[in-house]
Amino acid sequence: MPERLSASQHRTIAALAEAIAPPCEHLSIDANRVGVADELDKLLARFDPSSRRTVKLLTSALQLAPLARGRLRTFASLPLDERERYLEKRLAGSGPDHTVAVSMRALCLMVLAGDSRFRAQLGDGNEPFKKGLAIPPETPLPTIQHPELDRSRQIDCDVVIIGSGAGGACVAQELAAGGLDVVVVEEGGPVSREDFSGKALDRVAKYCRASGLSTTIGRSVIPVPMGCVVGGTTVMNSGTCLRAPESVLAAWAEEHGAELAAPALMEPRYDALAKQLEIQPVRDDIMGRNGQVVKRGAQELGLSSHPIPRPTNGCAGTGQCAFGCPRDAKRAMHLTSLPAAVAHGARIYARCRVEELQMRGRRAEGLRAAILDSSGHATGHHLSVSARAIFCCAGALMTPVLLASSRVAKAGGPLGRHLRIHPGNGITGRFDEVINGWQGVMQSYAIDEKLDEGILLEATFPPLGMAYSAAALPGVGERHARLLAEYPRMASLGSIISDTSTGRVRRLPGLGASMLYAMNAEDVGRTVRATALAARVLFAAGAKEVYPGLPAMPVVRSLAEVDALEYHRWRATDLKLSAYHPLGTARMGREPGDSVCGPTGRVHGTENLYVADTSLFPGSTHVNPQYTLMALCLNIAQRFLDEWPGSGRRQ
Ligand SMILES: Cc1cc2nc3c(=O)[nH]c(=O)nc-3n(C[C@H](O)[C@H](O)[C@H](O)COP(=O)(O)OP(=O)(O)OC[C@H]3O[C@@H](n4cnc5c(N)ncnc54)[C@H](O)[C@@H]3O)c2cc1C
Ligand code: SF4
Repeated sequence: MPERLSASQHRTIAALAEAIAPPCEHLSIDANRVGVADELDKLLARFDPSSRRTVKLLTSALQLAPLARGRLRTFASLPLDERERYLEKRLAGSGPDHTVAVSMRALCLMVLAGDSRFRAQLGDGNEPFKKGLAIPPETPLPTIQHPELDRSRQIDCDVVIIGSGAGGACVAQELAAGGLDVVVVEEGGPVSREDFSGKALDRVAKYCRASGLSTTIGRSVIPVPMGCVVGGTTVMNSGTCLRAPESVLAAWAEEHGAELAAPALMEPRYDALAKQLEIQPVRDDIMGRNGQVVKRGAQELGLSSHPIPRPTNGCAGTGQCAFGCPRDAKRAMHLTSLPAAVAHGARIYARCRVEELQMRGRRAEGLRAAILDSSGHATGHHLSVSARAIFCCAGALMTPVLLASSRVAKAGGPLGRHLRIHPGNGITGRFDEVINGWQGVMQSYAIDEKLDEGILLEATFPPLGMAYSAAALPGVGERHARLLAEYPRMASLGSIISDTSTGRVRRLPGLGASMLYAMNAEDVGRTVRATALAARVLFAAGAKEVYPGLPAMPVVRSLAEVDALEYHRWRATDLKLSAYHPLGTARMGREPGDSVCGPTGRVHGTENLYVADTSLFPGSTHVNPQYTLMALCLNIAQRFLDEWPGSGRRQ
């Protein structure tokens, strides 16, 4: 039985929620009526233990913080007006109290917006944006897992692939089609479209690593969610498929020896993937008004911009893309490359967490994985796989951890270093017109005018039930409630930057795999320029106010104020960031001293151990990375087939 919130923690959450959305004339359903503390308690029961501990710890920190500041009262015992003032100050400040207040406010807002009555008062319905489109029949993907795996097993294959995300699925497809006996071992469970009908927050808790609470540790805490499910993060992502600029790929090939990423080899792969995954620009009839507003602003300013290409078939603009597509319209890996691999004989073992790679000298001989039950708990049984080669495709967080625990790379070397995350800031603007930004494709329109400066803007409005964009709305109390009530008139524009800051993945005692990351001044400047550009686009589209998510400047009302925002000296701790693209932690290169893998993805110093996920990237892709990763992994798999005479390739 998972540990529940204590009575004092329960009171703290209820007191916080009331301060965020109090009973007032603006809301017919407020935080008290939703019962945020009860709902959060239920949600926590579905969190993994360490994420549950984190939330409980943050709650206790909030409860006791006023005492540490010399007040003789806990947070929950402050009267409502004092509580609101206390929160306003923490939200406008910096340091640990600020982080606690921001995180807990965001969590409470998500729980609040998860309530159907709360959403209904803002006009949320269940209808797809484009009505009348038929949903094609479902073809389940065959996978093997507990309880079928009811005892320890030993199996053999030519190649075992760890992880079934963008990298692993593409390698599996290519190698299986090439005649190899392929096994995929995936920690997450299988999913079907029926799994994507409940609350968005529940889906994050269920299908993301650490219940969706993975963050960086450093000067500021940056959420970096990632999928843990058959199909990997592609199941839980926005679907954007942008080609990396040719100059980026050419630099990887020339400066880092990543010859398989050379533009001439990538272009045919991009083209083939475009066909297979049905990648097409978002059409006007499903874009939704958030994308249309951003398009209007970009065109008004004459900025280079375009509808985003995405892998879809039958998209009705239900706007749930990063929380699992309920129509299977988003062609994620569990619907495309994995079925293609299975059609060529590949076997997928789900809910099996690889814990150890077995090495003999320079040769990888196999792996051992814990068999998990449907709640993610270890059953005590193990899957052992002997293979002639291993592809580690566990993502930029877990791949370096697996390689390190298997002692294939030297301590103190490049393994786990060079972590980049493409940090981003989502800003919100208030308009006179009704936008209902959550209707239509979630990430729909891109502005690439400043791509060569490392700035990309993307119109992104997550489902109403996630209230992401509401977290950018300033304040607490009645002022915040008024803005919440105006949510249907809000548009949201996100930015991502190509970071020059680099972090590190390390296993920390008690915390497990952790991302240490501190943003440098250059990237702070880039983020502020991106935020200012996004604000100008929203004003050009007709915004009355813009909320840039900056503590000392929560509202911007004019272009002159945008200039002031851009020229102010901000610190990394002032920025409210999130990131979705961890990469670079086992990067490719010529020199073992400076890279973990060689030009073909093989780990330096090994004969048959490969990496094929975003860990490989020698630097930022400048755009969302999945398309480039898929293309690169297909090239790596093709080279493997060409060069591996001992791999037992079937005739
Ligand atoms: C909310 C969100 C939105 C995004 N939107 C976009 C977008 O629009 N466009 C884009 O290009 N990118 C997007 N991304 C990023 C993109 O999805 C990732 O870059 C990409 O999926 C990475 O592929 P990968 O193969 O490296 O890792 P993943 O796809 O994360 O796959 C790794 C797999 O390995 C499994 N695994 C890890 N450890 C183990 C273990 N020990 N044993 C067994 N299995 C293990 C994991 O469970 C996971 O399934 C988004 C990400 C998020 C979180
Ligand atoms: S908008 Fe996203 S979630 Fe909705 S149907 Fe299209 S791809 Fe699926």
